[in-house]
Amino acid sequence: MTSTAVPATTTGGPGLPQERRLVTAIPGPRSQELLARKAAAVPSGVGVAVPVAVVAAGGGVVVDADGNSLVDLGSGIAVTSVGNAHPGVAAAVAAQAVAFTHTCFTIAAYDGYVEVAEALNRLTPGDHEKRTALFNSGAEAVENAVKIARKHTGKQAIVVFDHAYHGRTNLTMALTAKNQPYKSGFGPFAPEVYRVPMSYPFHDGLSGTEAAARAISQIEKQVGVENTAAVLIEPIQGEGGFVVPASGFLPAIAEWARTNDVVFIADEVQTGFARTGAMFASEHEGVVPDIVTTAKGIAGGLPLSAVTGRAEIMDSPHAGGIGGTYGGNPIACAAALAAIDAFEHDGLVERAQQIETVLFDALRTAQEQDPRIGDVRGRGAMIAMELVDPETGAPDPGLTGRIVRYAYEHGVIALTAGTYGNVVRFLPPLAIDDALLVEGVGIVLEGLATA
Ligand code: PMP
Repeated sequence: MTSTAVPATTTGGPGLPQERRLVTAIPGPRSQELLARKAAAVPSGVGVAVPVAVVAAGGGVVVDADGNSLVDLGSGIAVTSVGNAHPGVAAAVAAQAVAFTHTCFTIAAYDGYVEVAEALNRLTPGDHEKRTALFNSGAEAVENAVKIARKHTGKQAIVVFDHAYHGRTNLTMALTAKNQPYKSGFGPFAPEVYRVPMSYPFHDGLSGTEAAARAISQIEKQVGVENTAAVLIEPIQGEGGFVVPASGFLPAIAEWARTNDVVFIADEVQTGFARTGAMFASEHEGVVPDIVTTAKGIAGGLPLSAVTGRAEIMDSPHAGGIGGTYGGNPIACAAALAAIDAFEHDGLVERAQQIETVLFDALRTAQEQDPRIGDVRGRGAMIAMELVDPETGAPDPGLTGRIVRYAYEHGVIALTAGTYGNVVRFLPPLAIDDALLVEGVGIVLEGLATA
């Protein structure tokens, strides 16, 4: 069967005109055609949030098959931080694809895998001796971090937090807090997972020390340190609504873990690689995790994930105990090396800090006029607004949904998040320019004003 719906792909990357341009309604006819085929060919459980058929993307825009150019404030959920079709990434992928595409690293080794491991050992927090193993997805990295922590400690219980998101595999569904849409009907879930309260300043009003004491007391009373292999936490929660724990919370949990032979795992799948205005979000509080999981931004859009940790922990599993056919695929590693080069040498950490200023300015100014914006929070290019009913303070997921719909209908991709579905989150590519960023957030706020 031939495809008639989507025209040949245009060249993407930063050379694309950096503009919001609407030439049809969203979705336009070609996008509708693809979505109709999608409905017939792909299960409905695989949703599509923004109804467009993408043909090119780069810098801060995504171009659809009808010729519309949308401002990208989502980066494919924090993945294309260096920019979509980044020239360095594209060239590295092309070069690797004509050299060799696969050996399975556990059958025959190659340089790219080891080089990515060396880079992560160098870049992640702490100057202790480290090791890195590579995988394909964030969930797979988290699963392997848990396996390694259990093997190292000889203990089984894994402590996770309210509002956490760690993936959609069986173990990571158990680690994830939110029932709908992630878990409902998909049980039974993996055992020995225990959930304790998160620090969520907008909701609980607790200091970091108070919130940590509450969580630690619950672990000690309900799980027991003698049973606890690991504490697993996102330093800033992603899908849970960009929840930034109160200052002092993360260091207190990390210190408690250190003194109790509990592995402290930071899930930096969403927060890693310059996203929060530091190379890793743990750095904002001076926390040195025992294990860090990464994915998303690591390889400019190619599927790659990693587990990086203290050498003595990482070396606990026996030979053959961890691995997989595709983990650390050579093309994904080549892409990662190009992306990491951009993170380190193109000022992207500083760019994320500038994006924070632009977004906070726009959102806090709007908040002064509009009490439905209950909270504005986040770090770097990971900023959110939480929407509430000003009378009752109750979450307003309906308003949130209307805003992101208004946004894409007017040429801006914005995403929702949050346990209560009432958070609009901003995750622009770090390659976006200020004019487009300001225009994009302006459209989202226009959506709030008219919703
Ligand atoms: N951990 C965190 C913190 C995430 O944000 C995500 C993805 N949103 C995952 C794990 C799972 O990653 P993946 O979808 O690549 O499996």
